[in-house]
Amino acid sequence: MNVLNYINGTLRPAVSGKAIDNYNPSIGAVYGTLPDSDSEDVQLAIEAAEAAFESWSKMPMETRFDWLMKIANEIELQKEEFILAESIDNGKPTWLASMSDIPRAVSNIKFFAAAQMNFPSESHHTPGQGINYTLRKPLGVVGCISPWNLPLYLFTWKIAPALAAGNTVVAKPSEITPVTAFLLTKICEKINFPKGVLNVVHGLGPKVGQPIVESKRIKAVAFTGGTQTGRIINKVCAEQFKKVSLELGGKNPNIIFDDVNIDEVIETTVKSSFNNQGQICLCGSRIFIHKNIYETFKVRFVERIQKLQIGDPLTDVNIGAVVSASHLEKILGYIELAKQEGGTILTGGKRFVPEGRCESGYFIEPTIIEGLDYQCRVNQEEIFGPVVTLTPFETEEEVIMMANSTLFGLACSIWTKDIERGHRMAEAIESGIIWVNSWMVRDLRTPFGGMKESGIGREGGFEAMRFFTEPKNVFVKY
Ligand code: NDP
Repeated sequence: MNVLNYINGTLRPAVSGKAIDNYNPSIGAVYGTLPDSDSEDVQLAIEAAEAAFESWSKMPMETRFDWLMKIANEIELQKEEFILAESIDNGKPTWLASMSDIPRAVSNIKFFAAAQMNFPSESHHTPGQGINYTLRKPLGVVGCISPWNLPLYLFTWKIAPALAAGNTVVAKPSEITPVTAFLLTKICEKINFPKGVLNVVHGLGPKVGQPIVESKRIKAVAFTGGTQTGRIINKVCAEQFKKVSLELGGKNPNIIFDDVNIDEVIETTVKSSFNNQGQICLCGSRIFIHKNIYETFKVRFVERIQKLQIGDPLTDVNIGAVVSASHLEKILGYIELAKQEGGTILTGGKRFVPEGRCESGYFIEPTIIEGLDYQCRVNQEEIFGPVVTLTPFETEEEVIMMANSTLFGLACSIWTKDIERGHRMAEAIESGIIWVNSWMVRDLRTPFGGMKESGIGREGGFEAMRFFTEPKNVFVKY
């Protein structure tokens, strides 16, 4: 499939006419192209978005709701095409795209379409003097930059609240997985979505993402991606005092006490470790297990993981391909590093070569490692692949210290039947999101984001509506 940009309501190639190859990671081969856009395409997109801002921001909210719902409903109607496209473009099993990515993208759009109609403005009475009320105005043209791991899910997580709040958008999906964002823009063209309101420019981070971030005409940037890219974006935005929301990497602890139902914990830990080949920012990559159940957990977890099926994501497998050849090399590099750092590979640890059409695909066996110090690089740096480490602990204090020892602070799971301990741990762990006796249960109304180097700001619910609007307080004297 040859992907096109969507600028001012029209699907078109890059101005330069150049294109980049798009790879299918499960067969390790090129299967399409995308525009190799540059700052010229970004400028056209910004101009279109500026021209559309006046009418979109002043449109009655019911009409804006209808437009967003039309996109969501069309995705639902074409969901089989979206599921297949996401699976081929990213390497994830079709069941995962069908259970998670595509329905969640639809929910994101529907949720924010409704949220803008329920978004309250505040008022404060100043006794004896008067009343304050707070207007919340859309910002103007905003930039949305999203990664490859959950392509449509995170693309819509950004553009839906931005549009719902009345802004116009210039968006850049990851160059590694552009197809479902392209399908969404095909829908926009088909339904005659107001031109210039959403503009999608495909291409490389430095050639497309950077000009979006650097443009003084872009009023805010919402970014999800790696911490290093986030750091670059943050610097540019700081210079311009530009609003920025950063959802970055994680090295999330999964803490298991000795009073749990091990079967239940193992079933969820299979998912929190290896869903989407471990390429979810919320995956629990450091598993801390109380020493009283360490051996039992270890043996049963390893047995369970060895039963997982790896291979062609279009068939009935648990684990598909990782997203690219370079990402495969990065993950294998971390497995080698784990051996050098004194770790023992309990299962996995190698590239996996399926028979048949996927023999050149980028597959890695789900890998469990033990025996590493909590401070070593493998336990401190984000690997973002199907690799987890096991570490025993004895006391709450010890596990809190180890869990909080990284530069990240995105998500954490805590498993215990002791409710007081659950609350105590939730309070002590440095993390923007805590799940007690669960993992990745998402309510779109809740604040979502990370502490420390996992990001700045929160998205989700009214947090996102606040980010995408400028508050203006008005005081009226009695
Ligand atoms: P990257 O940071 O490499 O890229 C993210 C996006 O930024 C891509 O669209 C990329 O384009 C673009 N980009 C790259 N360089 C620049 C630049 N200089 N200026 C502007 N944009 C740029 O992340 P990945 O795509 O590798 O995604 C994986 C990362 O995302 C992991 O670290 C993961 O933890 C994090 N993530 C965080 C989540 C959260 O909510 N906290 C959720 C999901 C993922 P291109 O693809 O062309 O390089």
